[in-house]
Amino acid sequence: MKEETARAIELDKKYCWHPFTPQTLWCAPDHEPIMLVSGDGCWLTDSEGRRYFDGNSSIWCNIHGHTHPYLTAAIKAQYDKVAQTSYLGYGHPLAGVLAKRLCDFFPKDTFSRVFYSDDGSTAVESALRMSIQYTRQTGQQERQGFISFDNSYHGDTMGAGSLGGCRTFFGLLNGFGFQTTHVSDMAELRSLPDEVAKTTIAVVIEPVQGVNQVHPWPEGMLTELRAWADEKGVLLIFDEVMTGFGRTGKMFACMREDAYPDFLCVAKGLTGGYTPMAAVLTKEKIYEAFLGEPDELKTFFYGHTFTAHQVGCAAAMAGLDIFEQEQILEKMPAKVELIAREMQKLKEAHPHVYDCRQVGFIAGIELRNPDGTPFDKSKRIGFHVCDVALKYGLMTRPILDTIVFMPPLRATEEELIFALDALGKTINEVFEH
Ligand SMILES: *Cc1c(COP(=O)(O)O)cnc(C)c1O
Repeated sequence: MKEETARAIELDKKYCWHPFTPQTLWCAPDHEPIMLVSGDGCWLTDSEGRRYFDGNSSIWCNIHGHTHPYLTAAIKAQYDKVAQTSYLGYGHPLAGVLAKRLCDFFPKDTFSRVFYSDDGSTAVESALRMSIQYTRQTGQQERQGFISFDNSYHGDTMGAGSLGGCRTFFGLLNGFGFQTTHVSDMAELRSLPDEVAKTTIAVVIEPVQGVNQVHPWPEGMLTELRAWADEKGVLLIFDEVMTGFGRTGKMFACMREDAYPDFLCVAKGLTGGYTPMAAVLTKEKIYEAFLGEPDELKTFFYGHTFTAHQVGCAAAMAGLDIFEQEQILEKMPAKVELIAREMQKLKEAHPHVYDCRQVGFIAGIELRNPDGTPFDKSKRIGFHVCDVALKYGLMTRPILDTIVFMPPLRATEEELIFALDALGKTINEVFEH
């Protein structure tokens, strides 16, 4: 190991604290964490000079690859003008252009207002806070709670966290966050007592569940949910933090069904991970309830320091340019099919591949014992598989024993084959030797 790698690891273990990480394992003397130092397209290089295919788009953000020359140039050019200016009391020319571009993706009059924040959690948090205040300002005081889905994930701020449905993450928030009713599907939602719907502010859904080991919903579910929300007068929030910006093959997942929410939350892919940046798109009807004389106190009293960060806006716009310049969505269908084919091959070749789930460039390969029983959780098989995969040049992160495969949209057919082949070799090594 190079001296600089050893030093980086030493400082990290001594001073840093990683998210969602058992620090006892991280800091164990025999654990040599990878220190990433550079990126190029779909590839990352560590401090030892080893290269890895970025199989989960650096935690689901990267759309256009790393150090994309056009994106990097746009960011540098913006830094040369100005980096951050206050969006409280001032504006800047990029925010409006970006907001219009985002709204223009949708049918006319779907979304007309964009509220910026910093990351997925604060996008969801903004939508929650807007929906609460909206019901207060439209005389719906009886509405107090939220509805979300089992095993859902909406971020880690207190409000977004209390909506989440993964017990392991959010059990500790019980009694602290918003009053939330969890349901597993449309049937359970429909069977809720009428009293619950009448006292609900909003229902929140991820169009494809990511953290729940990559689980798509039945086709038509978003349309059914829209109809249910309309019937009950409940607001609808789509958390497209992971699914937005081409992940599913459409620019936004809701376009697959032409079903549109009252609040659409986006983040991760918005800048392709180049800077933190998020947005909530909403409708004129919602926005209008916040208008009035200042002393009526209808103002949306909420915001974040980095709102509409100028470099973030520049990065987002460059990302949208790349979608057009490089015909990213047009090139996806053949690659989506290739992923499906290669995963099917994995399933046929390896008895430990229990299930392959996929929507566009969102895929999960669930591993189990050949008899279909799940592995003993304490064995952390998913993490072990991802550790071994590094040796074959594939970097990704599991959720329990599901290996997430969510590559940058620009990955070529050769790269996708390389990555899934690396996973096949890994599974061979872990289980069959
Ligand atoms: C990642 C994610 C979030 C949280 O976003 P952060 O940027 O980590 O705050 C929320 N919802 C979904 C669906 C996500 O995938």
